[in-house]
This record gives sequence, C-alpha cells and structure tokens, in this order.
Amino acid sequence: MVRVRIAPSPTGAIHIGLARSALYNFLFARQNNGKFILRIEDTDPSRSTRESVEAILEGLKWLSLYWDEGPYFQSQRFPIYKEYAEILLKEGRAYYCYCSQERLKAEKEKALKEKRSWQYDRHCLYLSKKEKEKLEREGVPKVIRFLVPSERNIVFEDIIHGRIEKSGRDVEDFILLRADGTPTYNFACVVDDALMEITHVIRAVEHISNTFKQILLYEALNFKIPYFAHLPLILGKDGKKLSKRHGAVSIMEYKKMGILPEALVNYLALLGWSPGGDLEIFSLEEAIKLFKLEKVKKSNAIFDFQKLEWMNSEYMKRSTNERLLMGVKPFLIERNLSLDKEDERRLLTIIEINKERSRNLNELADNIAIYLKEEITYDEEGVKKFLDEKGKENLKELLKVYEDLTDFNKETTEKVLRELANNLNKKPAEFIHPLRLALTGKLVGPPIFDVVNVMGKELVIKRIKKALTLTLDNYSQNN
Ligand code: GLU
Repeated sequence: MVRVRIAPSPTGAIHIGLARSALYNFLFARQNNGKFILRIEDTDPSRSTRESVEAILEGLKWLSLYWDEGPYFQSQRFPIYKEYAEILLKEGRAYYCYCSQERLKAEKEKALKEKRSWQYDRHCLYLSKKEKEKLEREGVPKVIRFLVPSERNIVFEDIIHGRIEKSGRDVEDFILLRADGTPTYNFACVVDDALMEITHVIRAVEHISNTFKQILLYEALNFKIPYFAHLPLILGKDGKKLSKRHGAVSIMEYKKMGILPEALVNYLALLGWSPGGDLEIFSLEEAIKLFKLEKVKKSNAIFDFQKLEWMNSEYMKRSTNERLLMGVKPFLIERNLSLDKEDERRLLTIIEINKERSRNLNELADNIAIYLKEEITYDEEGVKKFLDEKGKENLKELLKVYEDLTDFNKETTEKVLRELANNLNKKPAEFIHPLRLALTGKLVGPPIFDVVNVMGKELVIKRIKKALTLTLDNYSQNN
C-alpha cells in the first residue's frame, strides 16, 4: 500500500514548489491506489499561522489535489515526539546538551577565523556525572542531541538521483528537542513519517542533506526506512531559484490572474517531468496514468510564465462555455456586473465568441463586460481612424438600414451591410471598422456579425447612436 504525504510548514501562501510536490505525491498515490496524506508542520508557533493553513487547504482544493487523510498537525503531537526522544536518551543514542548560544557562537566564530569547518564538538557528551548534576541543579536550559554514528557512511538509493552517500563524520550531533520541548523538523518528520506509515517520501531536492540525518533516526528508532525521491529545484528564467522577483510564486496569485486551475496543474506537472513525445497538454486524469516517478528529471526545472500563459489560453479555447462561465463569474462580480438579470444562454454565447481571444479569465471578463456594461471605453487610435467624418457618415447610413431591419440576426445584418456598401460603391470594411469601434470600442475582436448578433438590435442601435456623438475631444470623458 503506497502512502505519501506533503508536509508544509504553514508560514505563508501555497507556492509553486509546494504545489508541484503536492501534485507529484498526488499522482503517485492515485496511480498506485494509495493514500495522499496532508501533514501540517507547525512546530514553530512563532512562524505558523492559521491563515497560512487555510491558504494551503484552499490552494490544494482549488487545484483539485484532494488529500485522503489529515490534515494532521504536528503541534498536537508534541507528547509523541517526547516519548521517542526519551527512548533514544535511554538507549544512549541521544544526550542532553546544556551549551549556551553564546558558547556555540563563540566556537563557531573561532573556527571561522581559523578557517576550520565547525560542527558541534560533543562538549556535553563528555560531561561527568557531577558536572551534569550541577547544571541540572542550576536549571540550565538543555536540548536533546542525537548521537550521530560518525564512523560510518550513510547511503541511500534515491528514486530520481540514484545512490547518494555521505560520511557520518560530516553530520553533526543535531538537535531533536529544543530547550522549550518543541521538536526540530528532522525529528518530528521521521517520527511522523514512520507512524503514518509513509512508504515514499517525495519532496524537494534541498532536503537531501536532511535525508541523511533522517535515515540515521529511522535506524536508531528501528523504523522501516521509506523510499526517497527528491524533486528538482524550480528556477526562474534567469537560472536563479524561483522567488518573488520572478513574479507570482503563490498559487492564489495565479487564481487572481484568471489562470484556470487545470491549466496550472498541467503546467506544474511539466516542472521536472514530461510524458514524452510532444504531449504537453493533458488532464489530471491522464497525468495519473502517465506519470512516472522514476522518470522525474534530476536537472533543474525552469518556471516560464509565458509558457503558462500560453497553456492557459489553450485551455481557455478547449474549455466548454459552461466551464468558463463558472470560472468567470467571480471576475464579473468583481467588475460590479450584476448577473441576475443576464440570462445564462446569452452569457454562454458571449463566451463562445470571445474565448478564443481571451488568454485568461480576467481578459474573458473584460471581453464579456463590453456586452453587459452601459458605457464602454474607446480605443483612442480607433476613434481617430474610424470615427472620423467619413466613418461617421458610413455609420449613419448603416444606422438607417439597421433601424429598418426587422429580422435582426447574424446573416441579415451582414447581408444588408454588404448591400449598402455595394449601393454606395464602397467597401464593406468601410462600415465594418467603424461599426466594431462603435459596438466594442476596440479595433479587434470576434467576427463582427457574431458581435452584432449577440448584442441584439436595441444595443447595436444605441451604441451606433452613441458613437455618432463621439468626437476626439469628448471621447476621453467616456474613458
Ligand atoms: N516542512 C517541510 C517543508 O516545508 C517538509 C519537508 C518534507 O517534505 O519533509 O519543507
């Protein structure tokens, strides 16, 4: 039975790296009929927040990465860690350390000056019974350190990176429990992964140095060692570790930008893995079938926002109108467009003709708003070019024809426009450009007779009349 987990520390928003880890764990769990577990590593109360926990849960749900168990909270499990620390103490695999911060700092500085590397010098391991008793009597704060077996190598077979090895000598006697009784990450993580029967630890590559320590703990506590898979770093386009400088790192910022969660999930899947061939666009269901943990790349992944935008526009084109309507609603509400009056069928047709040219839900909302708002804004170049004397002259002629047209639809409005142009010895474009500007305020957009048809006679007439009153001086008041 496969059991995997993500174990975020709730100190901020759910970012790209965490979401990618969550996705890979999720895919691996689903394809193996296993369990995907959520554990909140909130051992540091000064940095952990309830809001961050909420944001993590919300982000995972938004991405449809539903967990099967949890969230477990490490802050509720302190007695368990204490119990295991005591076992290690009793067996001589761990010891109390009374060293003050000042002493440690001074030792480190001294080593630095002498250009020596430094790790904890086991000062407290060698205290005599008497010395210890004295320190206890004085109530000096103490931590519990793990006694690292330094005379051996620590080796593990990483699913992605292969065999990795480190000398025990290069691992210091790290802390298990701090003076205030809270566990350190490495200790709580091992106790929990073992008790939660995690079979595969799939996490970011920066944890490899922790994995060595954790393997020693598994062994000391007689726990079964899970498989490890360390996922590649995610870098920005400039080759530096992905950070705020590169743009949004929080998943929720992408939500606000109007990125579809299914597009983001698809893009995240490609940050370190690919199904091979040219296949780039696939659903979560397909990814579950295709994903291969052992095929995850060792090399760094590059986060490319333009690529994500491209992928999102592909998803926009391929989505059903109903899907997009559901997604775009909050963006319409944000624009104070009251939807109750609008009938859904009309919205769906507006979406149909606009989805090809909307890269995200924000753009779609802007494009929809043109049909719903009282006032539109006009492109300045467009007004100059197409609502000049000649353009207005043509619009006036067209207005008459459209006012008289009783059967007002896509075909008839096109037919009469072309006839009018023909009769007046002009090109249809001489009517179409001013008409597009009058109706949408823009130079480009969906096929014009689709627009005319969806807007309907009343609004088309109203907007043509409005455009006829526009001058270069007064148009800006409308903007
Ligand atoms: N709390 C750790 C982190 O957020 C978990 C790492 C792990 O998956 O073991 O990085």
